Amino acid sequence: MILSRFSSSPRAFLIAIVASLMGTRSRAQSVASPALPLKHAPQPTTADITPADLMTRLYIFSDDSMQGRRVGTEGHRRSTAYLEREVRRLGLLPAGDSGTYFQNLPVFERTLASGQPLSVGSSIFRPWADYLPRDNGPTAREVNGAPVIFGGFWTNDTSSMISPAQAAGKFVVIAVPDGPDGRPRWQANRPLLTQYYQQAAAIAIASLDAMDATSRQTLAEPSVDLQAAQERTPPLPAFLYVSRPMAEALLGGSMRGLTRGKMSGRAVTGSIHFDAIQAPARNVIAILPGSDPVLKGEYVAIGAHNDHIGFNHDPVDHDSLRAFNAVVRPGGEDDPDRPASTVEMTRIRGILDSLRRVHPPRRDSIYNGADDDGSGSVALLEIAESLVNAPVKPKRSILFIWHAGEEEGLWGSEYFTDHPTVPRDSIVTELNMDMIGRGHPDDVKGGGSGYLQLIGLRRLSSELGDLVEAVAKTEPTSFHFDYQYDANGHPQQYYCRSDHYEYARYGIPIVFFSTGGHRDYHQVTDEAEYIDYDQLSRVASLVRDVAVRAANLDHRLLVDKRKPDPHGQCVQ
Ligand SMILES: [Zn+2]
Repeated sequence: MILSRFSSSPRAFLIAIVASLMGTRSRAQSVASPALPLKHAPQPTTADITPADLMTRLYIFSDDSMQGRRVGTEGHRRSTAYLEREVRRLGLLPAGDSGTYFQNLPVFERTLASGQPLSVGSSIFRPWADYLPRDNGPTAREVNGAPVIFGGFWTNDTSSMISPAQAAGKFVVIAVPDGPDGRPRWQANRPLLTQYYQQAAAIAIASLDAMDATSRQTLAEPSVDLQAAQERTPPLPAFLYVSRPMAEALLGGSMRGLTRGKMSGRAVTGSIHFDAIQAPARNVIAILPGSDPVLKGEYVAIGAHNDHIGFNHDPVDHDSLRAFNAVVRPGGEDDPDRPASTVEMTRIRGILDSLRRVHPPRRDSIYNGADDDGSGSVALLEIAESLVNAPVKPKRSILFIWHAGEEEGLWGSEYFTDHPTVPRDSIVTELNMDMIGRGHPDDVKGGGSGYLQLIGLRRLSSELGDLVEAVAKTEPTSFHFDYQYDANGHPQQYYCRSDHYEYARYGIPIVFFSTGGHRDYHQVTDEAEYIDYDQLSRVASLVRDVAVRAANLDHRLLVDKRKPDPHGQCVQ
């Protein structure tokens, strides 16, 4: 599932607290220790949907070797290769590009073109040493010849800075004062400043010397973009962090006492140009043909997302992080990062002590995404394996789709629904599984065996909602459906936060199945050892049975609600 808000998570509180926890001891508390191993030897999978098969598959798919499956990376290539091998082995029909199981997305990795230092007068400045350029996209302006102006001080807003009109066409240098603790700060709000000074040639933040090594490394990583998303962007200023010597060369002297709006009489020569190369980003798409000669031309789509958010350069102790989040951030990345109170620290230490009895400290930097969305991805494989081996095939065809780049902004589902490989009108419903392997009472309020959040199931088709509930009653174990996240205007906005919406915007009825958020959401602790494989197996079986029921209806699911504008903003 995608983050609800784009924030550069500070992690500062967390890092400090995790460091202080390392090696501490306190009174023991009883906390359930993880019962599942860190590694699991794969077993051959069977025709049925079983907890054991799901476990085998998820320990492969969310293994550290997959490097967090971020779109554009080798880990993404490797994890989608596993899915492709499996659907090929099962004998499903390919439904990607030119007879393959892959639909490639026009995703590009952008890196700074080499050999282009910036000069001011006779001084030459080198990228990554003297300045750190940020990629503001293919529409970012070139900086050559732009006159330099002092923009003022960034104090978390634009109140002590020059106006957008003064900045137009200029190379704007902005100072960042020290923080309240007297320590130098480097952060400035790139999206806000880019938006505010949209007509500037460049925005240079004079804070590179204050930037820590980890942030430098993270900000130097290439950006990955979907071409379609870039095309909508208007021309933008270049953006860079510069060292103090470079700032002083630009401004012709010290920033101390300088008045905002002062022109330095100098100009920059050189270029900040980023080259784009195609990066791996692929939907995996396969079809089980329907058994009815007429109805096989219609599809029941079942989806999950194959990507996650990669890895970072800032390893933390796994159990310290988990103990901290259990108390301070029970919703993981959906909850704000903040310091723990004294009382909370005592609880965190207690939890950590009990975890220490199971594992020694271990550093972790890979976002394995076992639940998000390893759970949906392996469930989809199990559904495929079960239907391939069923004696009677569904009447309509089943379309299995593993979307790429969900975490980047629903890229794969947006691209597929805009460029469908089967006629869009032939898709009668889309059943989306994202994060379906948890739902323990410790994870989510009201959780427990059979707990499942259902979202969107009546937003286009009342009949689909009724069908899901009817099928659930025929399952061998009972479900506890939680509808609260489907409420209009719900602050979590789940209806807009996963791939199903890209189908719904075209009037295709959807159901979003999820066991909900938890402390490991978008954390390096989202791992296979914390998944409830019985729960995952029950949800996968339900989704399969809903798909089969919809595929065998003697009529197409009735759409009785208003369709949204396919190119408008999602509204829950
Ligand atoms: Zn996610």
